[in-house]
Amino acid sequence: MASTIHSEIDYDQAGRQVSYLYLPQSPHSDAWGAIPIPIAVLNGGLGPTVLLTGGNHGDEYEGPITLGRLIRELDPGALQGRLIILPALNTPAVLAGQRLSPIDGKNFNRAFPGNPEGSATEQIAYYVNAVLFPMADAFMDLHSGGSSLQILASAIIEPAEDPAQMARIVAAARAFDAPLTVMLDNLGDPRTSTAAAVRAGLTVVGTELTGGGGVNRQGLEVCERGVRNVLAHLGVLETTGDAQPAGNRRVTRIPGPAAYVFAPRAGVFEAFHELGETVEAGQPAGQVHTLDAPAEPPEVVRFRISGTLYSKRTFGRVERGNCVSVVITDYVAPG
Ligand code: CA
Repeated sequence: MASTIHSEIDYDQAGRQVSYLYLPQSPHSDAWGAIPIPIAVLNGGLGPTVLLTGGNHGDEYEGPITLGRLIRELDPGALQGRLIILPALNTPAVLAGQRLSPIDGKNFNRAFPGNPEGSATEQIAYYVNAVLFPMADAFMDLHSGGSSLQILASAIIEPAEDPAQMARIVAAARAFDAPLTVMLDNLGDPRTSTAAAVRAGLTVVGTELTGGGGVNRQGLEVCERGVRNVLAHLGVLETTGDAQPAGNRRVTRIPGPAAYVFAPRAGVFEAFHELGETVEAGQPAGQVHTLDAPAEPPEVVRFRISGTLYSKRTFGRVERGNCVSVVITDYVAPG
């Protein structure tokens, strides 16, 4: 089925194009209007095509800032291949500074494979899945933790069943050379951008670059260096001798549902540990206070596995079931 999105971009044209994809939108104030989604194509000729996206979630800024800088600074003539860059992919969410689109309330990263007959978020996801993925050899989707989470700066491995594809993915994620590399599959959720890109056969690299809904300088530095490292690894950017990433940092994973700690009831969560600390199964992760019933003792919440504290909730206030902590364990990556 055809995508609803139209554009003046010519993906085969050499050089630099900076323009918009137009998603038709027909609200009360603008019957024949469109939502402009920024896109840049930097085409240096023969070589792989790399799709780079930020703003999948609208409150994660290190990726979009990095991609804006690439659009301004990279000379297409210096590239061996083509970059398709969408720094504010779910533009309505990015302009609102929100995880979800204010138009349809949807999470872009739970919208794949998308639907050309669906809501705004679903139509954008469909364009990425049906038009952009088939053009690309590699995909980098640059996330941070968003408003509700702080996450250690890391490159993400989205696992693939095919061993050859998995080896490509692991090599590219390690080439990013973030302080941590984490295998993370959102508990097997097939609706994420990276899961869809793996199904399309691409070499896929994700990120988590701190979070909290602000702009983190350390996350930004890791992101800017990492994106260039991966482009060099893929052969699109020239490598300078001393900029070769070590690629030998610790590789970890979120081993399953037990890695997540959820609030057992509503209240205010007090975390007992800082990110990066070694924690043990059964050890208290924190406690939930009931502020309007001060005679009630706080309820202690325990880690279910041993490992390293990778992520924790930023907001104090919790509802039952909110994710308050995530633990990673070491992983021996194939290849
Ligand atoms: Ca995210």
